[in-house]
Amino acid sequence: MKEQLRSLYELQAIDVKIARANAQIAALTGSKELRAKYSATKAALQKVEKTLAEYELEVRDNELQLKSIDEKRGNFEKRLYSGAISNPKELSATEKEIEALKAKQGELDVRTLELYEQVEATRTKVESARSILQTVETQARKAIKYESDEKTRLEAEISELTVQREAAVANVTEKALFSKYESIRKHNSSTGIAKVIDGRCEGCHVAITSFTMSNLFKDNEIETCENCGRILFMDIA
Ligand SMILES: [Zn+2]
Repeated sequence: MKEQLRSLYELQAIDVKIARANAQIAALTGSKELRAKYSATKAALQKVEKTLAEYELEVRDNELQLKSIDEKRGNFEKRLYSGAISNPKELSATEKEIEALKAKQGELDVRTLELYEQVEATRTKVESARSILQTVETQARKAIKYESDEKTRLEAEISELTVQREAAVANVTEKALFSKYESIRKHNSSTGIAKVIDGRCEGCHVAITSFTMSNLFKDNEIETCENCGRILFMDIA
């Protein structure tokens, strides 16, 4: 029985390594977070780019309007100062038109100056958002590469361990013992056998009862920890 328990304990060492490698693969989630951060950063950049485009469009529109108003005003003024208008009603109407156009120009000038400032500020925001996006992209690419390399390495490790496991399983000829181990480790974070160290179970650290202790020295039955249920292995020569 002792040799069978030793073989089982060796098998468990491999199973623990396999479980650890699988847990490491499952923990490779950094790139997922960075991908999400990249999407959010990209969306923020697109939003500020859209705002910039809107301001720039309004600037161009205002500039065209100002040009057209200026032409109109010029024509009215030409007529006014040429002395071609003699009718006082027409004269006064022309003056009113010019005043209205001046007022409109004034409004547009104020708004356009505001827009120039907004365009400038928004361009700075676009540049900063672009630089942040670039940083996040670099980080995400790095993380994806790291995780892909790590996954490849760990999968190779697992397949090598799987080969070792087959050999270790073959060493456990007591099939009842093996089945018991398999069923216990399902509920005990991948471990089904524990050494007795200083009178305690290596798995749960609870003291072994003297009854179980005395049975362990007899070495003919499978003894399990009364606390965690793991198969107990007294590693003495
Ligand atoms: Zn235990």
